[in-house]
Amino acid sequence: MAIWQREIITFLLLFLVVCVVGLFTKLFLPLLFALTFFSLCRHLYQIHRFEKWLRTGGQSDYPKTTGVWEEIYYHVYRIRKNNKRRKKKLSKMVDQFRQSTEALPDAAVVLNATDEIEWANKAARDVLGLKQSDKGQRIPNLIRFPEFIQYLKSKQYDEPVVLPSPINNQITLAVRIINYGAGLRLLLAQDVTQLKQMERMRKDFVANVSHELRTPLTVIKGYLETFQDLDSGTSSLLTTSLKNMLGQTDRMQYLVDDLLLLAHLETKSKMHELVNIPALLTQICHENEAILGEGRIQLTLDSDAQLVGEEHELRSAFTNLLGNALKYSPENTPVQIHWHQTPDGLLLDIIDQGEGISEADVSRVTERFYRVETKRSKKINGTGLGLAIVKHVLMRHDAQLIIRSELGKGSCFQCVFPLKRLSVND
Ligand code: ADP
Repeated sequence: MAIWQREIITFLLLFLVVCVVGLFTKLFLPLLFALTFFSLCRHLYQIHRFEKWLRTGGQSDYPKTTGVWEEIYYHVYRIRKNNKRRKKKLSKMVDQFRQSTEALPDAAVVLNATDEIEWANKAARDVLGLKQSDKGQRIPNLIRFPEFIQYLKSKQYDEPVVLPSPINNQITLAVRIINYGAGLRLLLAQDVTQLKQMERMRKDFVANVSHELRTPLTVIKGYLETFQDLDSGTSSLLTTSLKNMLGQTDRMQYLVDDLLLLAHLETKSKMHELVNIPALLTQICHENEAILGEGRIQLTLDSDAQLVGEEHELRSAFTNLLGNALKYSPENTPVQIHWHQTPDGLLLDIIDQGEGISEADVSRVTERFYRVETKRSKKINGTGLGLAIVKHVLMRHDAQLIIRSELGKGSCFQCVFPLKRLSVND
């Protein structure tokens, strides 16, 4: 039988006794009053003890009692004990998490919705120079690099931002923000000094080797041309050998030039000048027509928009794209160039009716040295660096290269420049 049922039965029995005794003694009402008063006092006393026990924390063993009150004490005591155990387990887990994040080699900082520091690990104190007392401070007041502040404000956290450490500019950090929870963000800063150093060494190495190869190549080419002039044509082997050697020297020269240009694009700081795109495109077309003859290139200029950028780089990118369109399409097909403006940006389309590129290759053609292996393309000269250069140049102009192509039908290489690069001709 449940305790509360026993409690009711006891009360009913007492009530019965009161009724019987009351009947015999004619004191029913005073007895009923006494019973009610006694029960009320008992429960008030128990409530007082219970409240006192709770007020003092309810930690110690509960006071001795009987009946339903013992049951109540027991349940509350058990719930409290379970909570205590759970709290202990949770705080142990939090401690373990703190210890593991403290041991992390990467700086980790928890930021709230208003960019205030909620928590930071040891590495954050070491590489970002944050102090324990910085808790609650806004992070843009402590890391003041404009690129970081812009990154924080942008809310576009797909790519990390690379910055020097605020306390040691010899350390390079890749800072990344991850959104989680309600308005909370985790800032992670990884030391990429060595990686950046190796990257710089690789770029310098390629640039130096390419530069050093230039002079010997020019000398070799010069001698080969002299030999070719001296060749009387008596030996067909000599004539073809000289032709092949000159062809290969030319190829090497293109390679070296392209590698140098790429290294240049990777290391040089961005320049901002006004580039008259219609004039530039007209000039590039004329130069190509001077070699190929007129009629193949159809230039449409639907915008007189000028771009803020670097002319030398844009010339190289457009020349590469037009060169490819002409190279990889039959001689009797036109190549269209269209410069126009849309609400999405400034667009340059270079459209050919050539062999096209398969879907699998489209995603790879901008990789360095990647060349699509077809019977025809094997015969076409190229370094495999042209589109890598185009991609780099466009990246430096905040632009994108979109390639649409269908095998056997042709390709459209589209350069999309953002409108912020626009500078309209007066
Ligand atoms: P390459 O010096 O070989 O032309 P690119 O980087 O300019 O190097 O181009 C990479 C590859 O992409 C080329 O080898 C070619 O197979 C393919 N490609 C580039 N442009 C076109 C085009 N307009 N039509 C078909 N294939 C193209």
